[in-house]
Amino acid sequence: MKPPSIRLLASLLLIIDLALVSAVEAQPRSVKVGVYDNEPNYLLEQDGKLSGIFGDLLNEIAQQEGWQLLPQPCDWQQCLDQLSSGKIDLLPDVAYDESRNKVFDFHTHPALLSWSQLYSSKNLNLRSILDLHERRIAVLRSSVQAQYLRELLHSFGLKADLIGVQSLTQGFELVAKGQADTVAANQRFGDVLAPSYQLHSAPIMFQPTQLFYATRKGQNGELLAAIDQHLSNWQKSPTSICCQTLQRWGGEHSAHLIPAAAWWGLAILLALLTAALGGALLLRRQVREKTQHLLDSEQRLNTILDSVEAYIYIKDVQLRYQYVNRKVCELFGLTLKQVIGKTDDEFFDLDTASNLHENDRRVLELGERVHTEEVNRSLDGGNEHTFLSIKLPLRDNHGDIYALCGISTDITAHKKNLEKINQLAFYDPLTGLPNRRLLLDRLQQALAKHARGLQQGALLFIDLDNFKYLNDTLGHDVGDQLLQQVALRLSNHVRAQDTLARLGGDEFVLMLEGLNLIPAQAVTQVEYVSNKIITALAQPYNLSGHNHVSTASVGVTLFPGDHSTVDEVLKRADLAMYQAKSAGRNAVRFFDPQMQAAVNARASLERDLRQSLEEQRFILHYQPFFNEHGQLIGAEALVRWQHPQRGLVMPGDFIPLAESTGLILPLGRLILRQACEQLVVWAADPLLSELCLAINISAKQFHHPEFVTYIRAALEKSGADPLRLILELTESQLVEDIEPLISKMSQLKAQGIRLALDDFGAGYSSLNYLKRLPLDQLKIDRSFVQDLLTEPSDAAIVRTILALGANLNLAVTAEGVETQAQYEALLQMGCRQFQGYLFAKPGPASEIARS
Ligand code: C2E
Ligand code: CA
Ligand code: CA
Repeated sequence: MKPPSIRLLASLLLIIDLALVSAVEAQPRSVKVGVYDNEPNYLLEQDGKLSGIFGDLLNEIAQQEGWQLLPQPCDWQQCLDQLSSGKIDLLPDVAYDESRNKVFDFHTHPALLSWSQLYSSKNLNLRSILDLHERRIAVLRSSVQAQYLRELLHSFGLKADLIGVQSLTQGFELVAKGQADTVAANQRFGDVLAPSYQLHSAPIMFQPTQLFYATRKGQNGELLAAIDQHLSNWQKSPTSICCQTLQRWGGEHSAHLIPAAAWWGLAILLALLTAALGGALLLRRQVREKTQHLLDSEQRLNTILDSVEAYIYIKDVQLRYQYVNRKVCELFGLTLKQVIGKTDDEFFDLDTASNLHENDRRVLELGERVHTEEVNRSLDGGNEHTFLSIKLPLRDNHGDIYALCGISTDITAHKKNLEKINQLAFYDPLTGLPNRRLLLDRLQQALAKHARGLQQGALLFIDLDNFKYLNDTLGHDVGDQLLQQVALRLSNHVRAQDTLARLGGDEFVLMLEGLNLIPAQAVTQVEYVSNKIITALAQPYNLSGHNHVSTASVGVTLFPGDHSTVDEVLKRADLAMYQAKSAGRNAVRFFDPQMQAAVNARASLERDLRQSLEEQRFILHYQPFFNEHGQLIGAEALVRWQHPQRGLVMPGDFIPLAESTGLILPLGRLILRQACEQLVVWAADPLLSELCLAINISAKQFHHPEFVTYIRAALEKSGADPLRLILELTESQLVEDIEPLISKMSQLKAQGIRLALDDFGAGYSSLNYLKRLPLDQLKIDRSFVQDLLTEPSDAAIVRTILALGANLNLAVTAEGVETQAQYEALLQMGCRQFQGYLFAKPGPASEIARS
């Protein structure tokens, strides 16, 4: 049950409603209606009355509503314009669409459903939308159809010529005249008109539309409300005026007057269309996305190419740049646009450009993949860079080369570093000459080349004379200056194919190649070069203002010799150089085979010496010495080598080698130890406890910084009495700086050790020098004793030495006394100590007791 108040309200509203209706009836409403020719939907009869489906229905409504209809003839476009400007109030037969809905109002229930269809001559045989490609289609200008068709064609990717017509009749006329292939019309109108133009409907239906009466936006809403009300009432009844009208104009039965089959067809077509449209849209979106993606990719690729620290470019077959990345632009100082189309001739100097062209042509013409170093100089030839370039051909679908793609990396800095490293590894930093390593390498190559006997070469070992003296007196800086100047002078005598190297210190090596094949001629050539070198190096030098004269000794060997190896060749030249030194320096000497034999012997001796040292194959023999009364006062220890094959080897055969190889140091320690042990043995023997023991000390031993310490340690360790020990030194080892020498000798003397000068008279000691040394004893060299009786000069020397000894308070021993006559002569001259075969030969310790 509704509450009474609601019922009351409803009655009140009904009353108001009725009142309003009666008010409208009271003042007849004049309605301006646009009318154009669209039979059977809508048309103006000759008598000025509206007609057609829309016309008839409107007439009926107007009559019931009491409207006075004022038809305003216009063509389609004019009608639309007039409706939107308000010149007419109502326009029938308007298809609904979104854009129209913005300027017009429509009622709710569609008055008529319709669709568009194409009409053409039978011959044309249009079967589907695809057959519209490149056809001329007449269509109402500004119509929904025109818009729809345009989009439809576009989404199928079809091109067709849409001919805008003022009226559908005009469209049909154009087709009939052959000026258009087909005409789009709403189906109702088309079916009426087509037969009279001998056209027929093609099975291309599109755009099902709902047709309405329309008014200007926001105005005449009451007209639409009334229309809606009548239409909805009529559509409920199959016998209504509405249905009668439709039957009269088109013979349809249903309310919407569209056959069910057509609706199905339409629906399917619509679905297909939507699908096609959707598909097309999807396709378009995909294309758009793909394009965007490609653009993005291209963008990304460009970003990558531009941020790569390499020069990337594409050149066409005419060698013109088609693409370059940022680095290339920077290199040329130009924009991409300025570079494109240009060739390398415009950026590089002539040589560079022609080299680049050559490489490019290998790629473009021969299809090669070129991987090469390119040295590029700018146009003015000034700016030089080295690139590592890789160039590849680009081919089209047929495999034809249409361009090349290149990537070049600037390796200038890398190259320079390599050069630096190379310089450090293979060159002497002081003189800039090749070092030992490079020389050995080149010598190796030369030997390989010369081994085939096609060429002859020579190795010159150049050693500066007395360089150490210069270095020690004027300092290393001056020494370095001399080496640099020597290098410069030597370089002036070197041909391109020769190698001049500095081995280190003051040693240089010159390797000459391509000498005459006849050895005698080759020797002449080398002699010529060597002498020139000797002469050049002997010219005075200016070293920081000091005038300096230096000479050099040169040793030469020719190669290849028998089984030459790098080592051998170097050794031979070295050996020859020593020969030159022995020959008084400032000389050239050639290596000869006897020298080689000596070298070989020396080498095997050195091996044996080392081996024997390990095996302690060295013993001491002792040669006693006596006073003027014939009493035994001591003995000299003389080393012997018990060689496994050669038996007892005398010191003269191995001491020099031990000295030059440094083996004298371990050997000296061995001797010192044995000597100390012998002293201890004697000390325990009452008959021998007073004996002194002299041991020979080599220069290398004596100058060893630890010499004093070592002697002390040996004495302490053995328990030998230092007062019984005499160290025999030779003059030659005492030519060093005198102050440290005196200090060293004093330290030994402070322990009670005595010092003797061996082989005295053979050297060149100055008296002054001798006076300052803390010596105890002089030993007259054997050679003077030997010829004492036959050579008056030797006798004079012996006398002088004896006088010197007396003067300086030094004991003097004559050694090598072999005859009684010598002994007596010496005694007479005032000599008080004697050693020699006359008394005893060196022998094992056991023999001493019997002396
Ligand atoms: P040196 O120091 O002048 O030794 C004396 C050399 O003269 C010894 O030769 C000895 O055998 C020899 N001799 C001695 N009396 C006579 C003689 O009446 N007539 C002749 N013709 N010769 C005589 P040895 O033993 O062959 O030694 C040679 C040299 O070897 C030594 O000359 C010495 O300089 C060196 N030497 C020997 N033993 C050692 C050692 O233990 N250490 C060092 N550094 N050198 C040594
Ligand atoms: Ca001696
Ligand atoms: Ca001696």
